[in-house]
Amino acid sequence: MASALAESAVELAGGGDASEDVLPCFTCELGDKHAGADHAALVLFLPGPSGRAVWVRWQRFDPRLSVVDPCVGEESGGDVCLLFAGHPGGHLWPEDIDPVRDGRGLP
Ligand SMILES: [Zn+2]
Ligand SMILES: [Zn+2]
Repeated sequence: MASALAESAVELAGGGDASEDVLPCFTCELGDKHAGADHAALVLFLPGPSGRAVWVRWQRFDPRLSVVDPCVGEESGGDVCLLFAGHPGGHLWPEDIDPVRDGRGLP
C-alpha cells in the first residue's frame, strides 16, 4: 500500500502514532459475496470504544479511504460482524476468517 494512503488513514483516525498499526497490505474482506460492489479492506481502528474504523474501498483502481461505523450484525453466539455498516454481501464472522484470502489485494 502506498505510504501516502497510510498517512491519510492515520490522519483520518486522528493522527498520533497509529501509523504502526496500519497493516502493510490489504486484501478484500468481502470475499466473493459482493458482485459489482467495491472491494473493501480494514485499515485502522479508531481509538476509543466506538468500533469505528478507517476502511479503504476500491474497484480496480482508485482506492478511497473513509471512516465508517461498524456493522451491527450479531450472531446468536455473541460474535459481532467484522465488517462496516451497510456492507454488501453477507456478514463476516470471526470464525469465517480464512488465512488464505481471496488474493485480490490493492493494485
Ligand atoms: Zn472484493
Ligand atoms: Zn455485517
